[in-house]
Amino acid sequence: MDILSTYSLRCSGLAENKAYYYRFLLKKTFFSQYPESQVENAKINVKVRVLKFPSLLKINFILEGEIVLPCDRCADDLEVKIKHKAKLIAKYGDETSDLTEIDEVMTLSKAETDLPIAQHLYEYVHLALPISRRHKRKADGTTGCNPKSLEELAKYTEKKVEKSTTVDPRWGKLNDLLSKK
Ligand SMILES: [Zn+2]
Repeated sequence: MDILSTYSLRCSGLAENKAYYYRFLLKKTFFSQYPESQVENAKINVKVRVLKFPSLLKINFILEGEIVLPCDRCADDLEVKIKHKAKLIAKYGDETSDLTEIDEVMTLSKAETDLPIAQHLYEYVHLALPISRRHKRKADGTTGCNPKSLEELAKYTEKKVEKSTTVDPRWGKLNDLLSKK
């Protein structure tokens, strides 16, 4: 069965002016459906409220949970907490909007029985990602990063520098001449 199709909201047979509530969980299995996802490992609870009006559905999302991302500095796992709210207005019309393009307002065909929201949830999670992804300093001011990983990275960078200084032997000779002076 297609995992993503389970992320959908019922949109037929709803009573007017009534609210409907849904809960979803986004985990590895969800993100593994998207090869381009920045998120692989996460546990995010999603609460959805659907309000049914005569001509539209008003949908509110609250996403809350943890995401594991690589730290920008030491590349070790970094747990990031997120909380994100989003709104979606689905107006009844002739044809359902293209759901690969996520907007705050969309058109929903009256013939639809379900509204797929996997793409919405995917986008909301990526909107909630922090720009800076680094381990915070500890209370005593020392780095919160993995010291071993930092050491390894430093070694790797040193090696790279060494290599680049020996790329062209002519420069080496010139350096020898200059240093003899
Ligand atoms: Zn780090």
